[in-house]
Amino acid sequence: MKKIPHRLYLTEEQLPKQWYSLRTDMKNKPAPLLNPATHKPLKEEELYPIFCKTAAKEEMDDTTAYFDIPEEILEIYKVYRPSPLSRAYDLERVLETPAKIYYKFEGNNTSGSHKLNSAVAQAYYAKKEGITRLTTETGAGQWGTALAIACSYFGINLDVYMVKVSYNQKPDRKSIIETFGANIIPSPSNTTNAGRAILAADPNTHGSLGCAISEAVEVAVTTDNCKYVLGSVLNQVVLHQSVIGLETYEAMNILGEKPDIIIGCAGGGSNLGGLIAPFMRDKLQGKSDVRIVAVEPASCPSLTRGKFAYDFADTGKITPLAKMYTLGCEFKPSANHAGGLRYHGMSPILSQLYHDGYMEAISVEQTKVFEAAAIFARAETILPAPESAHAIYGAIEEAKKCKETGEAKTIVFGLTGTGYFDLRAYNDFRSGSMTDHIPTDEELEEGFKKLPKF
Ligand SMILES: *Cc1c(COP(=O)(O)O)cnc(C)c1O
Repeated sequence: MKKIPHRLYLTEEQLPKQWYSLRTDMKNKPAPLLNPATHKPLKEEELYPIFCKTAAKEEMDDTTAYFDIPEEILEIYKVYRPSPLSRAYDLERVLETPAKIYYKFEGNNTSGSHKLNSAVAQAYYAKKEGITRLTTETGAGQWGTALAIACSYFGINLDVYMVKVSYNQKPDRKSIIETFGANIIPSPSNTTNAGRAILAADPNTHGSLGCAISEAVEVAVTTDNCKYVLGSVLNQVVLHQSVIGLETYEAMNILGEKPDIIIGCAGGGSNLGGLIAPFMRDKLQGKSDVRIVAVEPASCPSLTRGKFAYDFADTGKITPLAKMYTLGCEFKPSANHAGGLRYHGMSPILSQLYHDGYMEAISVEQTKVFEAAAIFARAETILPAPESAHAIYGAIEEAKKCKETGEAKTIVFGLTGTGYFDLRAYNDFRSGSMTDHIPTDEELEEGFKKLPKF
C-alpha cells in the first residue's frame, strides 16, 4: 500500500474561491505598461479600447492580493476542476531516483490545456459588459480552442488569428475551433492593415504570435462592441492561472508535503506564474526557499538569452510597451520548431522575479523535449503536450541529480496539457526527421537592434 495516493483530487469545499495576485507580494513590482506614443505609464482607461473593463482593472491592480472568483466562473470551473495532483511513482521507478515527483495535470478538459482557466474568465467579463465579439491570436492552437469553448458557452462571437505555420501543421485545430462556432483565420492575413503590411514585407512569412496579435488587436479597436483577449503574458492571465497553484498548494498541504523544486514550461509565463503563485508568496515573505525553474525552448530562449527591456507585445508595434525579457517583437522562431512556447517575450511578473533572482531558467532543444515526453508517456500513461514536456525534461534532470547525490528531494512540475493535437510532431520525432535550431548570437542581435529606444 502506498501511503500517498497516485492521484489526489480536492473536494468541492477545498477548491479555491479566490485568485491570488502574486505581484502584491513583490517588492519590485513589474514595470508599468507604457503608452507607445508618449512613453508615459498607461492609465487604466487607455486600455478600454482594447480590453474589457474588468480585465483592464485586473491588469493594472498592484494592490489587491485576493480576488473573489465570480460565482458564474466557479460554476464552470466545477465542470472540469479540480485537476488532479499526481505522484509520479512509475516515473520515479523508471528513473531509479530517490526523488519524489509530483505533477499537476491540466490537460483533462476538452481544450486540452490550462488555458481554459483564463478563457472562461475573459469570456465571462465580455458577456457581463455587453461585448458581442472577441478577437484573439493563437499559436499552437490551445488558446484559440479554449477561448472558442468559453465563447460558445457565453454566446460570444470569436475571431481567432492563428499563426500560419501552425495553421498548416495542425489542420485539426480548425475543425475543433469551428465546431465551437468561432472563425479561424491564418495569420498574417489580408483582412487587416497590419497583416497586409507584414505580407508586403515578406510574402512567404510563416507568421508569428506577434503578427497575429497585431491583427487581432486591430480588429478589436476598429470594430464596435468588440474587444481583444490574450491567453498568456498579461498580469490578468497570471492571476486567473493562480487557481493551478492554489489547488496544488492545498493538495500538498493535505499530503503533508513541501516542494523543494517547482518546475514549469515557460512560453508567455502564465501556467508557471499560476503554478508557483502561493509558493512564491511564501518565498517572497521569507517563509520558504523553494527553487523555481522555468524551462523554455532553445529555439525561443527569451529568459535565458533575451534582454530585459521595454518592447512591444506584437510585431506590428501597435500594443502598449511592456518591460519583459524579450527577443525583440520581430523575432520568429524557426519554422521547424514544433514544441510551442514560441512567443518573443515573457510575462512582466516572471521577468521581474527572474531578474531579481527568485527563479532560474534553462533552455532545451526540442528533440530532447520529445525524448523526455516519451519516457514520461510510457511510465505515467499520459501523452503530454510538447510544451508540457519541457517541464518533464526539467523534472527528469533534477531527478537524475537526486539519483547521483542520493537526496530524496520533492519535485513538483506543471503538466499543462495533452499531446493529442501534436501527433504530427510526435511522428517527426519518431521518424528521426525532427531537427533542432538554436539561434546564433548574431541572429538574436538582429532582434535586439529593433528594440524601441527612448
Ligand atoms: C500555451 C501553453 C503553454 C505555454 O503558455 P504559458 O503562458 O507559458 O503557460 C504551455 N503548455 C500548454 C499545453 C499550452 O497550451
